Amino acid sequence: MKVLVINAGSSSLKYQLYNMENETVLASGRVERIGMDSSIVTHEPPGKPDVTQVSEILDHITAVKKVIDMLTHPEHGVVASMEEIDAVGHRIVHGGEVFKNSALVTADVKQEIRKLFDLAPLHNPAHMMGINAVETNMPNVPQVVVFDTAFHQTMPNTSYLYPIPKVLYRRHKVRRYGFHGTSHLYVSQQAAKYLGKPLESLKMISCHIGNGASATAILDGKSFDTSMGMTPLEGLMMGTRSGDLDPAIVPYVMNKEDLTLSEVNSMLNKHSGMLAISGISSDMREIVEAMGEGDANAKLAFDMYTYRVRKYIGAYAAAMNGVDVILFTAGVGENSNVLRKAVCEGISFLGVELDEERNNIRSKEVREISTDASRVKVLVVPTNEELLIARDTYAIVKGESK
Ligand code: ADP
Repeated sequence: MKVLVINAGSSSLKYQLYNMENETVLASGRVERIGMDSSIVTHEPPGKPDVTQVSEILDHITAVKKVIDMLTHPEHGVVASMEEIDAVGHRIVHGGEVFKNSALVTADVKQEIRKLFDLAPLHNPAHMMGINAVETNMPNVPQVVVFDTAFHQTMPNTSYLYPIPKVLYRRHKVRRYGFHGTSHLYVSQQAAKYLGKPLESLKMISCHIGNGASATAILDGKSFDTSMGMTPLEGLMMGTRSGDLDPAIVPYVMNKEDLTLSEVNSMLNKHSGMLAISGISSDMREIVEAMGEGDANAKLAFDMYTYRVRKYIGAYAAAMNGVDVILFTAGVGENSNVLRKAVCEGISFLGVELDEERNNIRSKEVREISTDASRVKVLVVPTNEELLIARDTYAIVKGESK
């Protein structure tokens, strides 16, 4: 079975085609600048040269058509015809409280996703355009939706409720949902497999640290608490997002600086975090480089960033009454030995002992970076959200067609 995984944004659409027999990627690529005059399609078939095309792609329907053209092209294509694609899996950011698992797309499912537009106004409408575009281009192909929030639906109410008037939860569903769930689930499964232990037997803290960053406490194989909240703004300090702050700062700053709701939202999401503190960049590589050159602001940004990761690890170890495994994933977590060292240095009391040599090894495999004597295992686990989406899609479609 071949499964096409799609991550549709408002002006971009990323894709990967999987052969599920051996879980290999047949091709991946992206369409950028959808709706603008010079849209760019980049198609990357492994073993063949990459292809880049610039043309006018005004909507998602045309973008999906372009993807199909690329995948079936006589030269750089990887399948003979569209009929070889058995199913399509979509990444959906917000599944609210309705979606606790991935689901086959039906009219009802689409209606439920539409109801969640308010909670993820930048993402869910774009995902819906992706679903509709696939429906138009491939009318008989089953589609599955996989949600960033679904893994966290197991959180107890002590984790997901905010201590504010309950009517806000009842009326507007104000609560913690958490994000990066597909990644946290995938890496926790990979870590358990690597350790040769059942996932349910391990207390894990998963640190997904990329441009966006979140930590998750995983107890009995389920999400017990997570740092992102009703939106991805809460929790760890991030590239451009503030993470946790005193909520009273918002009205205070709005008043003092005469800011609108949209301006303050943009300030906290796009102009805060490492970018704001360093004054240099939101990119960890540039921060580490500047720090090496003696830049004090870069060092402050780095120190605040790692301090906040440590605080969450401490909080989650307390929340679970212990921790067996701490794992790092995503762009920064997988690649920055400097960050991992800084985070692990201050938590030796928990039983964390980092092996510096192991920490400095670069690899695309799951690896242990704690010493053999360390009570808590520290792992680096490359994430692969697309593969989990493909697996769920395959499982659901296979189940349906039995
Ligand atoms: P996203 O949240 O957009 O999926 P990624 O998981 O791709 O983000 O992570 C992007 C981040 O990873 C950037 O801040 C980038 O600097 C960081 N990163 C990538 N490679 C390295 C590296 N070698 N060292 C440090 N940071 C890195």
